[in-house]
Amino acid sequence: KIRVRYAPSPTGHLHIGNARTALFNYLFARHNKGIFVIRIEDTDTKRNVAGGEKSQLDNLKWLGIDWDEGPDLGGDYGPYRQSERQEIYQKYIQQLLDQGVAYESYLTSEQLEAQREVQKARGEMPHYEDEFAGLTAAEKEAQITNAKAQGIKPVIRIKVPKHHTYAWEDIVKGEIQFDSDTIGGDWVIQKQDGMPTYNFAVVVDDHLMKISHVLRGDDHVANTPKQLMIYDYLGWTAPVFGHMSLIINTETGKKLSKRDESVLQFIEQYRQRGYLPQAMFNFITLLGWSPVGESEIFTPKQFVKQFDPKRLSKSPASFDQKKLEWVNNQYVKKADLSLITDLSLDNLIEAKLVPAEVSLEQIEWVRALVALFKDQMSYTGQIVELAEIFFHDPEQLDEAAMAELQKDEALVTLETFQKHLKQVPRFTATKIMAAIQQTRQETGVKGRKLFMPIRIATTRSMHGPGIGEAIELLGQEKAQHHLAETLK
Ligand code: GLU
Repeated sequence: KIRVRYAPSPTGHLHIGNARTALFNYLFARHNKGIFVIRIEDTDTKRNVAGGEKSQLDNLKWLGIDWDEGPDLGGDYGPYRQSERQEIYQKYIQQLLDQGVAYESYLTSEQLEAQREVQKARGEMPHYEDEFAGLTAAEKEAQITNAKAQGIKPVIRIKVPKHHTYAWEDIVKGEIQFDSDTIGGDWVIQKQDGMPTYNFAVVVDDHLMKISHVLRGDDHVANTPKQLMIYDYLGWTAPVFGHMSLIINTETGKKLSKRDESVLQFIEQYRQRGYLPQAMFNFITLLGWSPVGESEIFTPKQFVKQFDPKRLSKSPASFDQKKLEWVNNQYVKKADLSLITDLSLDNLIEAKLVPAEVSLEQIEWVRALVALFKDQMSYTGQIVELAEIFFHDPEQLDEAAMAELQKDEALVTLETFQKHLKQVPRFTATKIMAAIQQTRQETGVKGRKLFMPIRIATTRSMHGPGIGEAIELLGQEKAQHHLAETLK
């Protein structure tokens, strides 16, 4: 049975890269009618943030990802938070101590630092050197007693076998081999505070939770030999591993890192800007995975049907925010007007352009506004800028627009239109268009010469949505005010 997991550390909001890991595991599980598990890896207590777990889970749900076992749902292999599995880890730590492959280590961080300095001077890679090397049993005993007397709390290290090859067939990268001598010496499986380290806990959990496949980021490749060591020592079979290619930011050409401020990287940020969850799901799935054929827009169910880990790419995925905007626009265009109206309303309230206690009439008005701009919005937050003219008094016209107003016949066109606009029986797009036609008949001005001055004078811009609708939304008062200002 296929069982996969997503194992976030609750150190902050859900990052694009982690969302991708979650998504691929989800797709793999659902495609194979397997089980998808969420496990919270919270043993690095210094890095945990309050609300981190909740935020991770909320964002996954928002993306449309669900799971079968997890900290909120329970399941047969819980608990699903590492901090609640201490006793379980203790049992296996003890087993490794009893087997004689793990031991207490009393080197202080200063002593480790000193080792590193010496190694650096010798041109070696930093590694742990056995603190008991060459000591007799009695000397070793004395050293431990001395350390204990100084109140030094030990960590527990695992012995790395010499000249051993750890290898696995990675479903993304193919055959990978590591020489145990490059691991960096006996490593810590239990920290001073009694917490297990990631590389140890992950093995115990994946084994006990019967995880069949581990799909995770490229940054974990170097951890895998350490984990294989533990599987060996405990006599367990390792799961199948797949390490997904890293993500490159097209903006900088560098690996996408949380510190990089050139692009938004947290799901929460996109959610706030009014991106649609299905569009995000779609876009993220294409980061390092490709469907057969040319099409790029699919629903989650279509992705589930097609998902084949063989199509995970070996080469880096590129994160292109422009493409994300394009994908989202495809979804905004297709989405229901009511949905886009509600999202836009949130953005307008956030920008304080619409009061939080919005009236039903105002919502109707926003709906008409959104209908005008929907097709050109990459995300609903753009409504704030697109619809600026409807909220603020117009700014100074730019040169091109000024030039249009200085053309022959512009003045007479505007004065005539002003007159007819005052007389429209109802302030609707149709009646406004009729007023424009009357202006044409009376002045004989037509085409661009007719429409451009009217557009600029009312909306104060050379571009925009349908002129009748735009003037209707401005309302008689504002439209007249803008016209009068222009004609001053
Ligand atoms: N907690 C680890 C992380 O956040 C999970 C690594 C794994 O999937 O093994 O990267």
